[in-house]
Amino acid sequence: MIGNPPFPVVTAGSASRAESAVVTKTPSIFSVDVEDWFHILGLTSSPKMDAWSRLPSRVERNFRLLLDIFSHKNVQVTCFFLGWIAKRYPHLVQEAVKRGHEIASHGYSHRLVYEMSRQQFADDVSHARKLLEDTAGTPVCGYRCPGFSVDERTPWFFEELARAGYQYDSSVFPATREHGGMRGAPAIPHTVKQSTGRIIEFPITVAEVGLRPFCFFGGGYLRVFPYWLIRTMARRVLKAGLPVVFYVHPREVDPTQPRLSMSIRRRFKSYVNLAKTETKIRRILDDFPVTTFQQFRTGCGARWKLDEAS
Ligand SMILES: [Zn+2]
Repeated sequence: MIGNPPFPVVTAGSASRAESAVVTKTPSIFSVDVEDWFHILGLTSSPKMDAWSRLPSRVERNFRLLLDIFSHKNVQVTCFFLGWIAKRYPHLVQEAVKRGHEIASHGYSHRLVYEMSRQQFADDVSHARKLLEDTAGTPVCGYRCPGFSVDERTPWFFEELARAGYQYDSSVFPATREHGGMRGAPAIPHTVKQSTGRIIEFPITVAEVGLRPFCFFGGGYLRVFPYWLIRTMARRVLKAGLPVVFYVHPREVDPTQPRLSMSIRRRFKSYVNLAKTETKIRRILDDFPVTTFQQFRTGCGARWKLDEAS
């Protein structure tokens, strides 16, 4: 899975053989991209930003349901808030902080990175970070882009993130996918050095099936695959000494959400198994210790040499 990324990787590593004893104790990372039901990307029917405030919102109900699951399981997770959501529902950010979760950024306007100019991207991520820090009253260090849409078309991505004050990112999807995807990019946590600073990259977790990398651990992938397969693949990743990065959206625990118009194929991917996702999340939290990106970084970062200067 280690390929030639379009950016310089200065430190990268997985647990050594001597450290394999601690592998089973490697926590996984659980994350939520906090957005609403109408933030599905890449559709002609996707509502434009100026229409969002006129649509019925489901994010409060759905995010509170997730928060209650996390409280019940006594876990802390990373919440990548869309800036637009944070501005409209600041109490959701503050409630997440109160319950001990990490606040991170999903940008402000939910546009695909490769559809923005470099300057538009810089403005979007800076604005979102400042808004989230002001709303949360805590530092915001992490970023995840909409649709995992960083790829070869956006070589300035890490440079602009570092310039905007971010310290880590979880946007690289090291497999083929609909929006973006970087098959061949490093699939392990690593540090990306840029002239503007360093960014620790936590790629979305993939597991090899045959010779192809597949994701089983978030979004439509988590909804479509049966739980026994997700658990088996997660154990395989952990055995290799890697954390599993799980990710969900609030709309994925909402079987009665309004539907956007789309092709049959996209409809399947967007809405399959919505009624089963809540149970899957509960089972993941029963079976795997999870933490936030920041806690993983401070707790396990030394083993990964993520914060060491090159
Ligand atoms: Zn999103």
